[in-house]
Amino acid sequence: MSYANAGFGTTDYSLWDEDEKPAEILDEMDFEDLQLDTGEEEIPAAPRPAGLKHLVRMGTCNHCLGRVGGKKRFGQNFLESGIEIRSGVIESDSTMDSARENEPLCPFCENLFEEAPLLAQIIHEEIGEHECDRLQLGARFPKDQTEVEDHLRKRFGAGGSAALKTSLVEEVAAQLRAIDSNVRLVIDKPQILALIDVLTLTVDLDIRSHYIYGRYRKLARGIPQTKWPCRACKGRGCRKCDGTGMQYDSSVQGLVGNPLLEIFGSREHAFHGMGREDIDVRCLGRGRPFVIEMKKPVKRNIEESVMMAAINDTADGQIEVTDMRHSNRSEVVRVKDTPAEKSYTIRFRIEAASQDEMKELTKVLEIPKEDKRGRNRRRQRRPHPNSRKEEAKAEVDLSTLSKAELVAICEEKELPKSGTKGVLIERIQNYSEDTLPLPDQAHVLEIMQKLQGCTLAQRTPERVAHRRADKIRRRKVMQTTGAKVEVGKDGIMYGEFSLRCESGTYVKETIHGDGGRTQPSVASLIGALCTVEWLDVADIHAD
Ligand SMILES: [Zn+2]
Ligand SMILES: [Zn+2]
Repeated sequence: MSYANAGFGTTDYSLWDEDEKPAEILDEMDFEDLQLDTGEEEIPAAPRPAGLKHLVRMGTCNHCLGRVGGKKRFGQNFLESGIEIRSGVIESDSTMDSARENEPLCPFCENLFEEAPLLAQIIHEEIGEHECDRLQLGARFPKDQTEVEDHLRKRFGAGGSAALKTSLVEEVAAQLRAIDSNVRLVIDKPQILALIDVLTLTVDLDIRSHYIYGRYRKLARGIPQTKWPCRACKGRGCRKCDGTGMQYDSSVQGLVGNPLLEIFGSREHAFHGMGREDIDVRCLGRGRPFVIEMKKPVKRNIEESVMMAAINDTADGQIEVTDMRHSNRSEVVRVKDTPAEKSYTIRFRIEAASQDEMKELTKVLEIPKEDKRGRNRRRQRRPHPNSRKEEAKAEVDLSTLSKAELVAICEEKELPKSGTKGVLIERIQNYSEDTLPLPDQAHVLEIMQKLQGCTLAQRTPERVAHRRADKIRRRKVMQTTGAKVEVGKDGIMYGEFSLRCESGTYVKETIHGDGGRTQPSVASLIGALCTVEWLDVADIHAD
């Protein structure tokens, strides 16, 4: 058998490797017949008595003796088993009593197991005040150390012996339980991961974020959802932002997260919303679901009512949170990926359109070929309002006319006759010969009601084109409610209604038509220009 004659170091030890060869075959082999050259290779693996004796002679510590000796009894730990094996070996050969003095460094663990109580103490102190219901331990070994140990264990240890890394971690865990009987050790989804570096005998704590779910109502306009760094200084702090580094004084994220910083002992938070509303849009109804992430928290077990009170008391009516509960990382993904139907309430101004504007609002909706790749898409701007003013002014100076004369002009041109002199003048100035008549109120009302069940074709609006692909999406208006039309004190017609839309509908565009990029739109259906006055998210139909 050629392998048997090879010297130590070159032989592959498969002969004794019980991971590869069943024990029965090994037992049947006649070791006397092998006639090995070197003393070392004659040594059988544990748990044979000669193997155990060799382990002791090598300077193996009691932990490793128990771990690789293969004689562990039920209920015994490695240390107890190792002590028993050693005393058995010494009983048959008393010279083995001084083995550890002769070889003081355990060849398997380099005496790491003796450091387990110290490591447990370090972890205990590092965690300190941090609340932790789920602690996971890990260890970082130099690769060559684990390779040498693996090799040695397969050569001299009993088959199926536990590996160094997991055994050391288990021992540290046992020592930790001795210090703190309440510690809860887990093997996944930890709140804190303590990573032992065996080379330096230090511990790195990875304190995982704490997640809280809730819903927010945004009751004031002008508040962005997340923190916006100042445009001028990009967050460094400058005169424009009063050194805050922020573009806006507050954000939903800040109003929710900042009061929680002290409560959780965190220094930072991250915000994950189920979609977002524009800065000038309120969010009412049951509010928008979100998950707030508190980074590196000291406290975790906080009553929900305490969190909500802290937020709502400091928000001063700008926002309001409800339904808060403790959550987890996977809910962030769920919240971000849930497509939710939403209801909006919207108010818009209705003004006469010119023939050209109407043509644009109702033109064939398609993505021009040359535009598909190009980044320089340019919207065909409608004529500047001033250009029509200039025309009207050229004819006659309206300010010299009496109110009665102005009313007469309005009557003639079928324009509304209400309002002050100034309003009338502006209205006449904005009028041009190709202006279409305003629709009557009953027709506008009917269109708003008939939008229910309608499927819209929406080409990506210009305002988001820089971050979304230019394509045409189909979105359904599920329901419209509360439609009303009125002429305001300014003599202008206003429409207002609520609509429930499929997730991903561009709502403002549904009203004004986005220059024909959304079809149909309220504007194209009533044949007039519509300008959104304000918009509220009335409800988010999710959770
Ligand atoms: Zn050892
Ligand atoms: Zn700044």
